[in-house]
Amino acid sequence: MLWRTLLTVLLSGSLLQGDGMRLTFLGVGGGRWVVLRQLRASGGMILEIDGQKIHIDPGPGALVRASERRVDLCDLTAVMVSHRHTDHMNDAIASIESMTKGATTRRGCFISTRAVIRGDRENPPILDSFHRGKLRKICTMSPGKTMMLGKVSIKATPTKHRDAEGIGFVFGGEGMRIGYTGDGEYFPGMEKHFMGCDLLVMNVLRPRTDKWPGHMNSEGALDLVKAARPGQAVMQHFGMKMIKGIAEKEASWISGRSGVKTTAARDGMSITIGRVPEEKGRKPLERFLE
Ligand SMILES: [Zn+2]
Repeated sequence: MLWRTLLTVLLSGSLLQGDGMRLTFLGVGGGRWVVLRQLRASGGMILEIDGQKIHIDPGPGALVRASERRVDLCDLTAVMVSHRHTDHMNDAIASIESMTKGATTRRGCFISTRAVIRGDRENPPILDSFHRGKLRKICTMSPGKTMMLGKVSIKATPTKHRDAEGIGFVFGGEGMRIGYTGDGEYFPGMEKHFMGCDLLVMNVLRPRTDKWPGHMNSEGALDLVKAARPGQAVMQHFGMKMIKGIAEKEASWISGRSGVKTTAARDGMSITIGRVPEEKGRKPLERFLE
């Protein structure tokens, strides 16, 4: 909430003591060409909150990007996939392997849509039976559904995207709310799902001049931020037209028009609210990476 005025944006690697949340961007790339050429990384995000460490949308290269950022995936408590597109789910199985210590320990939670977990008429499930058996919990989410991960509440939000089952999330923990839109264009009423968020993460593929049905551009992001009024907003999931400094200009345009501080995330950036307990796995990992 606003009383948490101590908010710092810093590069990952810093170790903080205490209570709070940290969101690390293993990659801010989105869409076809940025991801395929790795013009921006596509490893997803790591959310650490209230004793949980959640890998959200592990796209291609997630393990490599985690290693580069000294983020240990072996102590994850959950892996989440918002929808079944490659840039969001490609490394989900590799991330589950990490969470289950190389599939030797039954642990962790996998959270996603029915199409990802069970498949649909045209597609097999992304979660195979071997890894299914290594997970302690599998949660099938759809818009409006809420679950608990330890003390953290997770609510699925609707999207308007090519994957009709795609979802976003709102996390509640440590007295704060973190929203994530997932992929999809802005639609009237979307804001009601993200009201009261301290931080809103938006997947903004294109600048305001460029509309593409099913995907959010900066104009849609402005509409969302103006209506939802989060404590602050951050954009990621950038396509070709958002790289080379454009995303930063769009973020500043949204800030100016909405009065809500909006930034463009960078590969490897972390946003910290409050104080985060020291990551146990980080020091041991350093030993192996030297
Ligand atoms: Zn998508």
